[in-house]
Amino acid sequence: MEKINERRLLFSLTFDELVKFLDSHGAKKFVAKQIFEWIYHKFVFDHTQWTNVSDKVKGLLSENFDLTIPKVVWDGLSEDGTRKFLIGFRDGRTVEAVMIPARNNRKTLCLSSQVGCAIGCTFCHTGTMGLTRHLEAGEIVGQFLSVTKFLKDKVGPEERLSNIVYMGQGEPLHNFDETKKSAIIFTDEKALGLSQRRVTLSTSGLVPQIKKLEDFPPINIAISLHAAHNEIRTELMPINKAYDLDRLLSAIKEIPLKAHRYITYEYLLIDKYNDRKEDVEALSKLLPKKVSKINLIPFNEYPESSFKRPSVSRINWFRYELEKNGYTCTVRTTKGSDILAACGQLKSEMEKKINLWEIGQ
Ligand code: SF4
Repeated sequence: MEKINERRLLFSLTFDELVKFLDSHGAKKFVAKQIFEWIYHKFVFDHTQWTNVSDKVKGLLSENFDLTIPKVVWDGLSEDGTRKFLIGFRDGRTVEAVMIPARNNRKTLCLSSQVGCAIGCTFCHTGTMGLTRHLEAGEIVGQFLSVTKFLKDKVGPEERLSNIVYMGQGEPLHNFDETKKSAIIFTDEKALGLSQRRVTLSTSGLVPQIKKLEDFPPINIAISLHAAHNEIRTELMPINKAYDLDRLLSAIKEIPLKAHRYITYEYLLIDKYNDRKEDVEALSKLLPKKVSKINLIPFNEYPESSFKRPSVSRINWFRYELEKNGYTCTVRTTKGSDILAACGQLKSEMEKKINLWEIGQ
């Protein structure tokens, strides 16, 4: 078994942190700019190829940081163009990341913020695993870098990821500081420079952390609501016992929203469970129409799940009723169903097959 590299990942550093580090070793600010250009604009991660960076600085970086990006341990391509990746870190742990193609050549990466998850939502396969550990910012950013490299090497040099959603494994706000740092790196012009509108963080509703969201870059926020009644929400999401709908909605009101921006509410539609007339009525009382978008997610059944997916006519009816009540409402189409098991299921299956230490670096 190889010794695990314990140095901090270079990709965990924001631009200001790299400047500070270099400054403390006598190097100038423009060197940080050159390094960020190699990594985040040219996607060249091998520092020996950074021709305009001095050997002294390269030595300094490799002495103090781990400069390796995570490994793509497995990838699967769906008929609809969705690609699923199992990404391996230096301690042998893995997470899932999914690239979802959309119109106008857009490509969204759904990435993970933790190995496993402590929230324990009853509909979620990851929730059954418990939390193994938080990801470092550089491991969150690293998923983006590894998938970008994969696409450029295997599909074509022009390939680019355009959008990010923090909707993979883990509760991003439970890993607040590292997730925040990754969001800074994703949206900073000097780093990946994604528009704030193209980055969406989805949370199960950790109220104390929602209150601290003003510290984040102003990215889009999605709330996993899934029910408009406390009893149902508590059954689906045990976190509702600690932070019920009243507390959640009051915290959401405090999120600083830029003009023309919405809060997206994700609502998992489960057959004969939360897809009834009274659910439409409760949702319509709960959510402010002007600043709410509702994204309906028909439940994706997996082998041991006790919930069922509603029929297409039921899904359309539910959407129609919400739209009639004045909401902007979308239905998430199932992508990559031929390769995509439910969130976390691929990881479980693959971990049975892969000797995880083989991927440690
Ligand atoms: S749905 Fe998200 S927050 Fe809930 S258990 Fe799964 S990964 Fe965690």
